[in-house]
Order: sequence, then C-alpha cells, then structure tokens
Amino acid sequence: MNIVLLGPPGAGKGTLAKTLTKEFKIAHISTGDMLREAVKKGADIGKTAKKYMDRGELVPDDIVVSIVAARVSGEDLKNGFLLDGFPRNEKQADRLDNSLNETGKKLDLVLYLKTSQATSIKRLSGRIVCVKCDANFHLTNMPPRRKGVCDYCAGKLIQRDDDREATVKRRLTVYESQTRSLIDYYKQKGILREVSGDLDIEQLFKSAKMLFEREGLS
Ligand code: ADP
Ligand code: ZN
Repeated sequence: MNIVLLGPPGAGKGTLAKTLTKEFKIAHISTGDMLREAVKKGADIGKTAKKYMDRGELVPDDIVVSIVAARVSGEDLKNGFLLDGFPRNEKQADRLDNSLNETGKKLDLVLYLKTSQATSIKRLSGRIVCVKCDANFHLTNMPPRRKGVCDYCAGKLIQRDDDREATVKRRLTVYESQTRSLIDYYKQKGILREVSGDLDIEQLFKSAKMLFEREGLS
C-alpha cells in the first residue's frame, strides 16, 4: 500500500508514521528526516536546504522531488511506502504522480490529520529530539524516562532549531498558504480520508489502522 500523510506541522505525522510503517511493514519516507540527514552529513543539498529549514520555509521543489523520486522508485518497497511531509504543494504532488506512473505505481490513500492550531503549537513547542538517533519526545505529552536523555540511546535531547516560536509560526503560515490546498487536490481524486490529529497518539494510531483495514489496505 502506498500512502501519503498530510497535515500541519505538529499534527503528529512523524510519530504516527513510525508506528504505522512498523505495523504494516512499509517504508517510511520522511522528507524532513532525509533533509536533516543531509544537513548532518554536510552534503551540498543539506547546505542549501538548511537555509530554508531554519526560516521555516519550504526547501526548493527540485531538491525535495529528486530525493523522493529516487526513493519511491527504489527496489526495497515491496509492501509499499508511507510518505511523511511530502508533497507539500501541488507542484510536488504532480511530480510525485509522474514518478509513480513511470514505475507503474499509484497512491492508494491520503490520510489527512485534521489538527487544531492549538494542538500543533503545543506539540511543536514542547518537542525535544535526540541528537544521536533522532527519536522524538515531548516535555509533557511524551517525556523521556530521564530528563534531557534519550530512552533508546542515552543521547542528549534538544529542541530542534526550527521548533523555536518564530519559526513555528512561519511554518504554520507556509502550511496554510502552500500545503492546505492539497486537501482539495486529493479530495478531487477521491483518495482523501480524514482522522483527527487532536487525538492522542495511541488513539490516532487506532483510528488510522481501522481506516486502513476498512479500505482493504492491510
Ligand atoms: P514538520 O512537518 O513538523 O514541519 P518536517 O520534518 O516534515 O517537519 O519538515 C521540516 C522542514 O523541512 C520544513 O519546514 C521544510 O523546510 C523542509 N521540508 C520537509 N519536507 C519538505 C517538502 N516536501 N518540501 C519542501 N520542504 C520540505
Ligand atoms: Zn537517541
């Protein structure tokens, strides 16, 4: 099954993506993670991308599309994939359609996490991430066992550069102006389904799983 997760920053896409891809044994393709990886490695792409990410702006389409196209046409996707954070505008959505067509694939479903602005802000402003393994925690919703220390690898937990208040506001504005229209885009294609992103992560996982099963995707 080939799935797209859509929703504002802070909707819980990353956390949900991790549990869903494990449950259904499909590949997790997160453009945010791939870009942060490129930044860490000091790759050329990473250097360009970081300028946009730190401002809360979208990284140029050509960069993002090329890294996604390379993954979705890959051989390791027997059971399918879940795209998290891509597409973020109609151009990216069209380009995705093209690369899927070329390899005889298609999207089965776009899961929209309908999330209030209050939830988004609360999640983003309390999020802390591991510098070593990238695991996510939250100061109040999902605290680590030991303050400031990753449960999995004992790495240090820090706030992501783009989770600072001013950047969070910009990311939400960018979502409204460039990404939100994808809801109608996929509605028109008849593949949009909606769950509430305001649910806690366990409930969210249950609703998404039930929905996939109802759609015959499991
Ligand atoms: P969130 O969904 O919480 O904003 P992500 O990790 O998905 O977090 O994205 C972080 C940043 O990476 C974005 O603000 C943007 O700069 C960049 N980015 C991720 N995916 C894309 C994309 N599809 N197109 C352009 N930029 C992207
Ligand atoms: Zn860790």
